[in-house]
Amino acid sequence: MSDLASRLAAVHQGIEDAAARAGRSAAEITTVVVTKFHPAQLVRDLHALGVRDFGENRHQEAQAKAAELADLDLLWHFVGQVQSNKARQVAAYAGLVHSFDRESLVAPLAGTPVLIQVNLTDDPGRGGVRPEGVERLAQAALDGGLDVRGLMAVAPLGAEPRAAFARVRELSDGLRRVAPDAGALSMGMSGDYADAILEGATHLRIGTAITGNRPPQG
Ligand SMILES: *Cc1c(COP(=O)(O)O)cnc(C)c1O
Repeated sequence: MSDLASRLAAVHQGIEDAAARAGRSAAEITTVVVTKFHPAQLVRDLHALGVRDFGENRHQEAQAKAAELADLDLLWHFVGQVQSNKARQVAAYAGLVHSFDRESLVAPLAGTPVLIQVNLTDDPGRGGVRPEGVERLAQAALDGGLDVRGLMAVAPLGAEPRAAFARVRELSDGLRRVAPDAGALSMGMSGDYADAILEGATHLRIGTAITGNRPPQG
């Protein structure tokens, strides 16, 4: 087995184990492999191993890879901050935008399913709406006809991830009072996906545990 195949298999096993501990089926959990900074060839290699869901966090790189790999049946997940003047272009290739976080993105993202990104830190530069703003933003999105599917969050550095994910799960309960179908929960990365599964994650965003270390950013 290649290193890539064995890392992928190890993560799949880790997901199975955590799902079993949570009394959940791994089949209800989508693993998005985050391939940022890696060449398009890595996406091809992962596709050959059965991966179909890929995540990117920078528009230019994502757009270029989506074009280069247009011959493959892939679903692109956009997980980075969406610049207002690029939002329409992101919507053109992304099957799910995990980082919807403000009202001005409602119109340009219309027609594309989105998750509301919640910012669990005190740093507004991280992207995401403050937890107390989730329901108001959801209402505005629904009023504007946006297809809201759920929430996305990153566990803050230095915090206990399981507690952070439990908080997201509570916010999800509130969101579903406004948007009953918005039950998706995108949370959990290479270092904390087992905790995320225990708290109900439906989408994991896993990079390095599968891809290996990212090449230096150029
Ligand atoms: C890079 C990235 C990930 C994956 O991180 P790893 O620690 O490599 O698994 C997940 N989510 C977002 C938003 C990212 O930018």
